[in-house]
Amino acid sequence: MDLIVRNAQLRGREREADVGISAGRICSIEDRIREQADREIDAAGNLVTPTFVDPHTHLDRALVSGSVPPTSPKTPFRARDIAIERKRRYTHEDVVYRASQLVEWAVSHGTTVIRTHVDVDPGVGLLGLEAIMEVKEKYADLADIQTVVFPSAGLAQVPQAVNLCREAFRLGADVMGGVPHAEADDENRRRHIDIAFSLAHEFDADLDMHLDATLNPASRNLVYFARRAIECGFQGRVTAGHTCALSAYDDQFAAEVIDLLLEARMNVITVPTVDLMFQGSGVSRLRPRGITRVDQLLEAGVTVTYGQNNVLDPYSPIFGQADLLEVGMILAFAAQFNTPEEIEMLFDMPTKVSAAVLKVPDYGVRVGAKASLNILEAKTVQEAFRTRCTRLFVLKEGRVIAEGRTHKKIFRRGDAPPL
Ligand SMILES: [Zn+2]
Repeated sequence: MDLIVRNAQLRGREREADVGISAGRICSIEDRIREQADREIDAAGNLVTPTFVDPHTHLDRALVSGSVPPTSPKTPFRARDIAIERKRRYTHEDVVYRASQLVEWAVSHGTTVIRTHVDVDPGVGLLGLEAIMEVKEKYADLADIQTVVFPSAGLAQVPQAVNLCREAFRLGADVMGGVPHAEADDENRRRHIDIAFSLAHEFDADLDMHLDATLNPASRNLVYFARRAIECGFQGRVTAGHTCALSAYDDQFAAEVIDLLLEARMNVITVPTVDLMFQGSGVSRLRPRGITRVDQLLEAGVTVTYGQNNVLDPYSPIFGQADLLEVGMILAFAAQFNTPEEIEMLFDMPTKVSAAVLKVPDYGVRVGAKASLNILEAKTVQEAFRTRCTRLFVLKEGRVIAEGRTHKKIFRRGDAPPL
């Protein structure tokens, strides 16, 4: 055995366990493994979980906030304009440098699988994607990165967009993305979705789109996307980010839409930080929270999880550190989660739910799975969220890829002073 993690608290198991690892995989989970290994780590009764999976971020946009003006007024349209302006100054090295930093932050917080949308449009061309593909290869030992073709300027009204997307798939992109709101009117938004499906079909790719990041109750992109998924036979291969307008529909219509999402086997990814920051910012009285109907989607059985989305970019110029415990805590406040059951569910999301959405193979704490594990400085998931605990050790396929702890010492009157 290469490594044994001893005295691990595993979710759903009463007694502490030893986890044995061989050739990158979990080979044994027992109360006490008698064998000795080359290396042993004492988890000391702390929680040992699979590593986190971030299903929605933007590596190419991250960490530009020192070089862009702050986002005011607080509308996503203003942020988009700033992002477009900053994008004109991208260089290959600049994108590689910023994305690398974000990957390292994510890894230090126990995330080893990342799905990133990457802008592909006539302005930036394939520069961003080429840089992210380099980062993907460079960090293959630390993280598995999936790339989503993100035609941020639109698909229906931008003549070169479709060919650029084709080029992106030839470069190795994994998933077809989209943002119908980039188009001028509803007819072109539907065309945007249609074109995305035809590209997904052409390259046998799943779809993951930004939909209805607005509280306008007339916005219907999610509905059209779900209907087309069913018509095109893409059930279970479709993911929708944001879906804020669902919370603006009346209850009757929202229930019908949720039924449609179930039929399409749609995954929903909420990005609570940016939706809280922007949605409803012009409303003075009873300002809405802006996130989608998380509790009702879950109750109906729709797959829901959350992602970081923005870190120090025009949409989040101050906040973000690629820490899914932090995003989860913010979602708990936005979605009003505070029962033990809800917090367990909140922990399932960036682990097994996101792993299922991203179709991560051999995932979990079980014999035979890849030994990609977090040893948390917390005994329970509630403590993990409450303290945004230290990730004491992060393992990817049996190898320690991050370790460390932070310590504070308190000095009472009369104690020996610090040196
Ligand atoms: Zn996004």
